[in-house]
Amino acid sequence: MISVEEALEKVLSCIEVLEPERKPILDCLGQVLAEDIYATIDIPPLDNAAMDGYAVRAQDTGGASQSSPRYLAVIGEVAAGSVPTNEVQPGTAMRIMTGAPIPRGADAVVQFEDTDEVSRKSSKGDLSQIGILCPAEKGLNVRPKGEDIARGDLILEKGTVLRPQEIGVLASLGHSTALVIRRPIVAILATGDELVAVDEPLAPGKIHDSNTYTIAAEVSRYGGIPRILGIGRDSVQSLTRKINEGLDADMLITSGGVSRGDYDIVKDVLAQHGEIGFWTVCMKPGKPLAFGVIKKTAGERERKVPHLGLPGNPVSSMITFEQFARPAILKMMGKKTFPKPTIHAVIEDDITNTDERRLFVRVSVTRRGGRYHASVTGPQGSGILTSMTRADGLAIIPEGSKGVKAGDMVEVQMLDWPEEHGKIETVPIVSIVGKSGSGKTTLLAQLIAEFKKRGYRVAAVKHSNRRVEIDQPGKDSWKFAQAGSDAVCISSPDKLVLIESVDRDSSISEILSMVGSEFDLILAEGFRASRIPKIEVHRKELGRDLLCANDQLAAIITDEALDIGVPQLPWGDVVAMADFIEKSFMLNR
Ligand code: AMP
Ligand code: MG
Repeated sequence: MISVEEALEKVLSCIEVLEPERKPILDCLGQVLAEDIYATIDIPPLDNAAMDGYAVRAQDTGGASQSSPRYLAVIGEVAAGSVPTNEVQPGTAMRIMTGAPIPRGADAVVQFEDTDEVSRKSSKGDLSQIGILCPAEKGLNVRPKGEDIARGDLILEKGTVLRPQEIGVLASLGHSTALVIRRPIVAILATGDELVAVDEPLAPGKIHDSNTYTIAAEVSRYGGIPRILGIGRDSVQSLTRKINEGLDADMLITSGGVSRGDYDIVKDVLAQHGEIGFWTVCMKPGKPLAFGVIKKTAGERERKVPHLGLPGNPVSSMITFEQFARPAILKMMGKKTFPKPTIHAVIEDDITNTDERRLFVRVSVTRRGGRYHASVTGPQGSGILTSMTRADGLAIIPEGSKGVKAGDMVEVQMLDWPEEHGKIETVPIVSIVGKSGSGKTTLLAQLIAEFKKRGYRVAAVKHSNRRVEIDQPGKDSWKFAQAGSDAVCISSPDKLVLIESVDRDSSISEILSMVGSEFDLILAEGFRASRIPKIEVHRKELGRDLLCANDQLAAIITDEALDIGVPQLPWGDVVAMADFIEKSFMLNR
């Protein structure tokens, strides 16, 4: 069995970036630029007006005010798109529209609102003159030539993924076409005697071919061009013919026929066409996967077409597409970022991992109180494609793990987020644990003070075994609680308080969901049983044994050296403790 990462690495090692092609800029959305773009012009090409108003010489407006306007002679008007011919001489102004070039002599634009134009117009006054009502600084409302783009500058670098704004910049530079890495043509073949085409009636024992459409839509979504080959039957002849039809493409994706079923002959056919490997990938769904290169002789030239054989079950084929075909398509398109963005979320259901492969669990993700929550979208059979329609993420339960309990944190791959998002980080948390009397509360207070000194925003979380009364009898909020409200939230300019009635201890994840994401560090006291990173305070006088197992501890703070393989920090050295926490949990995140 190989890991997901190994399988992906093997796939990508056979995939090459495609060649560039020149095409109209509007067809390039999402593609990778294959040339550096230098500006051959200035944008804007000339100094121009940022406002409708009057182009003036700033020095002519000195001392102007509502009560004593500076009067200037209006020598003309310039609209956007035209070039002024006369010059603004001392004591004159020119009416100007936004975007119009600043006339020679002028160095500022006074907007209409700061002139007496409106009152002149309403009183049918003399428009050959204008009163300026406030002084203008040199450069006021003037957009200088080359402010956006200066001639000769490198504006877009080779390798840039073109978004609408880059396409706009290309247009502003006068490029109607761009050189981009071309989109891969991906041939798609469904296999199986049980399949009928989407527009054909179902006969007993038959099902519609859905994989072709899921895969084709995925190919389009990631920028490839799907070429649908249709359905190959479970016979050597049919599959051979179909596969040959697909060999003009840049990649071939088949679905079905890679497991050990009696009629699964895809492998036999493929083995005759090139190199093919059948992998058992340590993942669920999607264990059986085929990957190889099909050789094709076109004239004298031999072409190699990578082939990915996905499992037939609709969910398995989609999830394996996401993990392996999607990065392959992105690589062919010249993209550099392949991982789907992942977030950390509180899982809302128990999940058991029976055979300890890496589980990809379909979840629906919501954001509440600053944390993401992921809930499983019903039965997870690999044939239940509607479980994907309710999902927007895949929770990853690592291989080797027995599963997770509701309330645990899990990593979730966000299916609908673009790759460029990268990893979304959550606030780092560390808990200080220790026997009672070990001094952990004092220590925590010292740590909080130390982190505040370092300029961090710190949240502290404390567990208490006793009932706590924090609302004061007689207060409005107390009255609401007495009347039966399950939660009372008090918001004021300096504090936000939530008092929520619960019938059991909350898990650390539930607590974190209320703390919010605006902190640099959460320091907790206690929560020994939770999975958050822990530092245990050990004191000689309280006995040699530790509360937590070694593998659960990030470090111990101790007043005697212990013979264990866990980092040890000297009791009393708060700076060293803060350094350790900073280095291990907060920096380079
Ligand atoms: P296979 O990998 O060929 O053994 O197929 C596994 C399961 O996936 C079987 O139940 C197939 O009927 C189903 N299946 C295979 N191909 C498709 C397809 N193109 N569309 C929908 N279901 C499929
Ligand atoms: Mg089959």
